[in-house]
Amino acid sequence: MIKKTFMFLSLVSLPISTQAQTHSHGEGRLVLSQEGNQWLVQFVLPASDIYGFEHAPETPEQELMITKRNKRLEQNDQVIHLGDQCKLNKVEFLSSHDEGEDEHHEHEHEIEHQDIEISYHFTCNSPVERASIQLFDWAKSLNHLEVLWLFENGQGASEISSQKPFITW
Ligand SMILES: [Zn+2]
Repeated sequence: MIKKTFMFLSLVSLPISTQAQTHSHGEGRLVLSQEGNQWLVQFVLPASDIYGFEHAPETPEQELMITKRNKRLEQNDQVIHLGDQCKLNKVEFLSSHDEGEDEHHEHEHEIEHQDIEISYHFTCNSPVERASIQLFDWAKSLNHLEVLWLFENGQGASEISSQKPFITW
């Protein structure tokens, strides 16, 4: 019963970036959760690896970069592929460049680091045996992802790197 409750919570996009974790450029985190045919895929990525910077955009080029990269993130086939049996239902940005926050921290630029958190909700009508990551193809400074999976039949942890951009179960 405890496990079930945890699984349910994990499928509603808990803000995993609030967990005490170090922020290292080139390193991201990936959490995959499954309950029935529902899959939730959550990434936490250093903004520097996605946009090339972590401060508020200061030039039109930087604003354009954020727009272009967010469009890529919204397309799961640019980020992760679980299999053709999976259909994307929803993409959520749980944190991103927040203008209100930027104004608030205007005088604190030197301490800023920023993570991007993004969640993909899939329905998969047959078992998923493999996840491949396309993110490394265009987020060139990203080296690896620490991976955690929480499935109905078990859980585990591993690592995915740009040299081996997939995981199987
Ligand atoms: Zn940083």
